[in-house]
Amino acid sequence: MTDIALEMPWLQKPWQTIQNRLAEGRLPHALLVTGECGVGKRAWADAVSGLLLCASPLNNGSGAIACGQCRQCQLLAASSHPDVRVFSPEKSRMIRIEQIRSLSTFAVSSPQVAGRKIAVVDRADQLNINSANALLKTLEEPVADFVLILLQESGRPVLPTIRSRCQVLSIPVPSAEQADQWLAGKLAEIEGEKQPTAELMAKSLMLAGNAPRLALEYATGEFPALRDEAFDKFRQFMRGQVAVAEAAKAFKALGLEDLLWLFEGWAADLARLSAGGKANDHEAGEMLGFLATNNPAWRAHELLDLVREARSAGVYNVNPELEATRLLIAWRGLMPRKRRAS
Ligand SMILES: [Zn+2]
Repeated sequence: MTDIALEMPWLQKPWQTIQNRLAEGRLPHALLVTGECGVGKRAWADAVSGLLLCASPLNNGSGAIACGQCRQCQLLAASSHPDVRVFSPEKSRMIRIEQIRSLSTFAVSSPQVAGRKIAVVDRADQLNINSANALLKTLEEPVADFVLILLQESGRPVLPTIRSRCQVLSIPVPSAEQADQWLAGKLAEIEGEKQPTAELMAKSLMLAGNAPRLALEYATGEFPALRDEAFDKFRQFMRGQVAVAEAAKAFKALGLEDLLWLFEGWAADLARLSAGGKANDHEAGEMLGFLATNNPAWRAHELLDLVREARSAGVYNVNPELEATRLLIAWRGLMPRKRRAS
């Protein structure tokens, strides 16, 4: 058995909420769980599924946890539990109506081996309007032995009509120390040469805004190197040292999602700096600070809006290189005229 609150201590509060609700027999039929990307929403949902299905939960002092031994727990651990379904975006980056129709059928069917069925929608902020409306029907007609868990990334909207029919729980970002400890533990499991350096670990945490699962992905993947290359070109482009096409190429290598994520982070940092705060991406802090002192605060929000527009258009297969070009040119507009000309 594993206790998610010990493994990921920042999940303790939302975890305790479920333990209490279950003990009181007041489990909501629909939960909407919000949190930053990579903070552990899915891990939390998996732990909740485990607890709700386990045939003989244990009490560890602070509440019930799944035993990890029974047939239910074993099926779940093998990802082959027939009464748990996870619905996530497909190639189109959206959750399609066919997926929600299959969810609705699953909701009203009889459980096969457990006492209830659980569906996880990872992510509810990627439902298109038709899928959202189809899901609404399931939410409006709760089924006694069915629990729906919707995961939502912070800052990405979910229809208010869906939100209002769910109990909303938020997963906080861990403290820097908790994130560091969790990541160090995960990285220690990686063998020898492949083990990331302390420097890469610190950088991954910074780039992920201390969201540990995202930081783990960064520390073991290509993102930090590609981001550095894109950031260098971005700086050079802002100083007029490289052409927009060259800078856009470096961003293209990241793919649309990641390049939008970077521009969004920088625009959010610019907004923070304009409001007298600090930049999360401290490598970009100096350049963004310069832009913040030379521009009105609304420019940062305009740049954030551009990213959101691109993201919602992303469903229709936007070309990453064109999108990077558009964003780079918008950013360049923030350079003081004299600097731009030189
Ligand atoms: Zn069990």
